[in-house]
Amino acid sequence: MLLFRTLAIISASGVAIAFALALAVAPVQAQTEAHSELHSTYIDRAGAILGHALTSDTAYETLGELCDQFGHRLSGTPELEDAIDWCAERMREFGLQNVHKEKVLVPTWVRGEESASIVVPRHHELTILGLGRSVGTPTNGIEAPVVVVDSYEELEAIGETAVLGKIVLYDVPFTSYGETVAYRSRGASEAAKLGAVAVLVRSVGPKGHDTPHTGALRYAEDVPQIPAAAVTVEDAERLHRMVDRGTEVVVRLLMDAQTLDDSVSYNLVGEVVGSELPDEIVVVGGHIDSWDVGQGAQDDGAGCIISLDAARIIQHLGLAPRRTLRVVLFTNEENGLRGGEAYLAAHEDELDNHVALIESDTGNGLASGFRLDVREAAVPEDAEDPEAALEELKQVALANLNQLASLLAPLGANQNILAYGGADISPMVKLGAVGLGMHHDTTGYWPIHHTPADTFDRIVKDDLDRNVAIMAIAAYVLADMPGRLIPRAR
Ligand SMILES: [Zn+2]
Repeated sequence: MLLFRTLAIISASGVAIAFALALAVAPVQAQTEAHSELHSTYIDRAGAILGHALTSDTAYETLGELCDQFGHRLSGTPELEDAIDWCAERMREFGLQNVHKEKVLVPTWVRGEESASIVVPRHHELTILGLGRSVGTPTNGIEAPVVVVDSYEELEAIGETAVLGKIVLYDVPFTSYGETVAYRSRGASEAAKLGAVAVLVRSVGPKGHDTPHTGALRYAEDVPQIPAAAVTVEDAERLHRMVDRGTEVVVRLLMDAQTLDDSVSYNLVGEVVGSELPDEIVVVGGHIDSWDVGQGAQDDGAGCIISLDAARIIQHLGLAPRRTLRVVLFTNEENGLRGGEAYLAAHEDELDNHVALIESDTGNGLASGFRLDVREAAVPEDAEDPEAALEELKQVALANLNQLASLLAPLGANQNILAYGGADISPMVKLGAVGLGMHHDTTGYWPIHHTPADTFDRIVKDDLDRNVAIMAIAAYVLADMPGRLIPRAR
């Protein structure tokens, strides 16, 4: 019956046929007994999921409507709450069970009016985006000479004499997000320690098209809070060149940004309840909030819809996983991580029942596999050598995860690595749960990340459908297979 249905669906699309055939004859490389067993157990069901995902318009249409109907979804806005309610309706429509919202108090940061310009040696308007959580400037703005550094080392080296009363520009070229983002998050406080009056940060991303990238900063305690804004890569380089030539450059910055009282928001939860082990849980999710520019299409509307549609397909095909598949759309990842923290607070008693938490939060590029995230807390307390035990645990988890990789090989998604899983799941992962980050190709992601250009038109439907299939197959097998990735720690 299942096979018949699969073939009927697959025949609707030549692409699906090609993939299904590739799946059926996927070369089996150096495999363990268990590997082949898992492969043969799930090959038909994986084919059914793939066939459905590649011939359905639901994910693409749902994401399009989310983006166009609500637009960006910053914490504290009615757009975010309306989008959460709309997703709850979709969950019910898709047949998920136990659909409910879990209350979260979230920071409410309001950008307000903002502008910046070079005023000396001659007028030039700068395109900026204030950094999330930044304080505003006085009503009349801040006007000060600019000093440029390309690292914290250089800032330290030039010291207070050069920085006092100035606007510091960090012109730090993008290497990796993890590395470069340190200047956006800590730059304001590091400069304020030396008496800077404001900070400009070169946008954290590769060179784009004169587009500023916003993102959150974090003020250090006991340091004056000074305003901070992102400038475009082009403007950062221009300012840097001018200052290097010995030109005195004065910039005027105006920001109305302010932080209001916390608002009420919600994590949204819906389930495909397990048929045999309903108390054991595989979470799939992304964050439903976004920055207040663009449409939050790739960050992280895509991750939410990939997760939601994966559950829809599993439900629709009647696959009835043995464990519970739980979709969580987290709130407030961008400027607080309160959603991830609230999920931990609400579900800590279930921590050991979480077989894995899978997050998709690096856009919609085609995934090449998963980033497996296992931390110290997963090691049993009585381990003699916790460090060695952690290494061993990671390898065990990776080997177990790789057992299902051959099912994803036709999609090119069989490359699992050990790395950071994702922000929303990190509070649970830090306490010992296994995290999996969907490892998307980020070539097209970082150029539009946190910018007005994160819009639905850049969503490639083929990639979205394949990512849905990858998420659904991985989540389903993890929720259904005989063992767990790692044994319970406690
Ligand atoms: Zn994100």
